[in-house]
Amino acid sequence: MKIILSSPIPGEIAQLREMLESAGIAGLVRNELSSGLLPEIPLSESTPELWIQDDQRLAEALEIKHAWKTAAPIEGNDWVCSTCGETSEPQFTPCWKCGASKPWWVDKQRSSRQNVAPSGFTPAFRNA
Ligand SMILES: [Zn+2]
Repeated sequence: MKIILSSPIPGEIAQLREMLESAGIAGLVRNELSSGLLPEIPLSESTPELWIQDDQRLAEALEIKHAWKTAAPIEGNDWVCSTCGETSEPQFTPCWKCGASKPWWVDKQRSSRQNVAPSGFTPAFRNA
């Protein structure tokens, strides 16, 4: 038994467990229900934990965890506000400081790096 993740967010545990199990690694959740129900248990002991049964697959499980972490729920890049010049993290749309909208090209830049357009394809921005 090896611990893979300790997270107070139940969704994270479930999500990673699903990924492990789709790779054939049996996951076990501890403290799943105790959170908040047993106030006498210190928080550190009641945080839900994800364990794997098979120690041999620890490296593999950690690789999956790494891939899962880097493919975080919040996608995108930090972006610089064109109104106030402040740098915002991707989850801030609009700008956390002045409320200006996130420029449309921030996400375009990201997706154009990941998805190569078919040759001969020209985006139609005539109305932009
Ligand atoms: Zn701004």
